[in-house]
Amino acid sequence: MQRVAVLGATGSIGASALDVIARHPDAMRASVLAAGSKVDALLALCRLHRPDHAVIADAGGFTALRDGLREAGLTTQPHAGCEALDALVASDACDTVIAAIVGAAGLASTLAAARAGKRLLLANKESLVLAGQLLMREVRAHGATIVPIDSEHNAIFQCLADGSTPARITLTASGGPFRGWTRQALAEVTPAQAVAHPKWSMGPKISVDSATLMNKGLEVIEAHHLFGLPGARIGVLVHPQSLVHSFVDFADGSTLAQLGLPDMRTALAVGLGWPKRIASGVPMLDLLAQGGRLDFQVPDADAFPALGLAYAALDAGGTAPAVLNAANEEAVSAFLQGKIGFLSIPDTVAAALDAMPPQSADSLEVLLAADAGARRHARARIAASAA
Ligand code: NDP
Ligand code: MG
Repeated sequence: MQRVAVLGATGSIGASALDVIARHPDAMRASVLAAGSKVDALLALCRLHRPDHAVIADAGGFTALRDGLREAGLTTQPHAGCEALDALVASDACDTVIAAIVGAAGLASTLAAARAGKRLLLANKESLVLAGQLLMREVRAHGATIVPIDSEHNAIFQCLADGSTPARITLTASGGPFRGWTRQALAEVTPAQAVAHPKWSMGPKISVDSATLMNKGLEVIEAHHLFGLPGARIGVLVHPQSLVHSFVDFADGSTLAQLGLPDMRTALAVGLGWPKRIASGVPMLDLLAQGGRLDFQVPDADAFPALGLAYAALDAGGTAPAVLNAANEEAVSAFLQGKIGFLSIPDTVAAALDAMPPQSADSLEVLLAADAGARRHARARIAASAA
């Protein structure tokens, strides 16, 4: 019986993961469920999935979680705080960890899973952007297994399953809700428009990242760490149908791609079942029913400068990707709160990168300091623009 810790259980990936796990009651179960601050949503999941442990990261939620579990007559043990989460992830309460917390907040638990040598189903791309070298080093040192859950990287993982070396990889991008829009038109978009993704149903932060194309930029950096290629050999093509999830070119002229309907349960089933194929609940792809065509376009670098910023941060190396990620998280949060406009998101990130020249990123302390510095810089710039 595979015991699975679902971190970010109350989120979009968490829901998809629990759906797949529940389809295989004889082979796996959710033994640990963790959320950020939504105690009621976590309790509802506990009633349904009856985990051994439930963790709320916000320590203020402990009493409500404990009382709620007791009232429901569950034997699930309540925990609160990030340290409790990291300890549980590393303990024998789970064999597999689904890292689906949003943002840099997911780094500590992801590292804890790697250091404990777990099977790590990694959705939290921000931890790779912030500390990719370090995380991959821990994975290797402790014999952990990473299965990328981000659909593009999961596609590449599947294409490389025979152990062959890629010559080049191409990440596909849906283009988000504003594909084809000019920079001028983007100035006025609202948070509601930005989170309404045409192809994928996702949490608010990654939805905004998809709309700016920063998501693809983060994914280029993520791919660099996962597959060991330089930025120059990682391409991006806009593919509006979102059916080809990425492809890999090899030295012999072959190109392998992975296709499927845009539903994260496929990637999660790959991670949970690998190397076996297990049911995910996702219907098989019918290309004709999907319109019978696959289109590809070059991304518009002028309207969506975030992608270029990410490539530049990857080339600059050191702390630059950590600065990019932290400034972006702050800018997206400010945009969602109506404090800044859509175009200010990449502007805020560019300003933080300009203000903080890259340093060599040889320790977690240096990376976390760069993350904190970039957040301070971005917040100050956002506050000044609102004044
Ligand atoms: P959601 O916003 O839907 O969910 C985020 C989850 O993280 C929630 O369970 C939330 O808990 C939890 N959380 C937030 N802050 C903390 C914290 N400090 N400590 C512990 N838990 C916390 O996000 P998504 O599911 O969309 O995305 C999750 C991750 O997966 C992101 O890194 C994203 O980039 C990646 N990803 C997502 C895809 C998707 O299709 N959604 C596709 C590819 C990658 P609470 O509800 O209590 O706030
Ligand atoms: Mg993706």
